[in-house]
Amino acid sequence: MAEEKRNAVPIARRGLMLVISSPSGAGKSTIARTLLEKDRQIGLSVSVTTRQRRQSEIEGVHYHFVSQREFERLRDSDALLEWATVHGNSYGTPREPVEQAMSEGRDMLFDIDWQGAQQLQEKMKADVVSIFILPPTMEELQSRLHRRAEDTEEVIQTRLANSRAEISHWREYDYVIVNDDLQAAFDAVQSIVKAERLRRDRRHGLFDFVEGLVQ
Ligand code: 5GP
Repeated sequence: MAEEKRNAVPIARRGLMLVISSPSGAGKSTIARTLLEKDRQIGLSVSVTTRQRRQSEIEGVHYHFVSQREFERLRDSDALLEWATVHGNSYGTPREPVEQAMSEGRDMLFDIDWQGAQQLQEKMKADVVSIFILPPTMEELQSRLHRRAEDTEEVIQTRLANSRAEISHWREYDYVIVNDDLQAAFDAVQSIVKAERLRRDRRHGLFDFVEGLVQ
């Protein structure tokens, strides 16, 4: 904490687009939720989806739940920054909140799949920091999906079948974390965020700061 205070000279920087992907059940959502709770500087990009709302989910908080027709309208009017079909449903990132956050130098978290990560990396380049979360074993992945108990057996089987395809994209990410301990995985994500915020090329305010320092 004391160290944080010592480093608190405000230096303007660009916002970070933190992309986290993983197969379903690897712990990504828990890690993302904890990060949002603990780090008030980061906001969540709330996606639109055509998937059925789960009982625990709240409209506008976890997703904007829309019809296929509404999804297509958004996609065709260029209102989505990226979009993809995942496990048979459509998902997309609304463009406007992201552009707003980036123009204000605010950080944003994206819980999206590899297809979305690819599109964001292509479009937003240096602003994107991507993290892939791996399960320690496939058995653990399976038991986490069952423990969640919010999906039908058929949905769980589809997700498991798709997990190998998702994992095959691990090389496209800047960082890879094996989640065999949730706290350790979360600590690793926090360290990445902390270091990425300090990158010289993200901190345009350094020019003025150093000028003032040495004049
Ligand atoms: P779930 O149905 O479990 O909430 O999400 C299924 C998958 O879709 C997850 O891997 C999640 O990261 C991904 N996903 C959620 N929102 C988006 C989005 O806006 N774009 C893309 N490309 N993937 C998303």
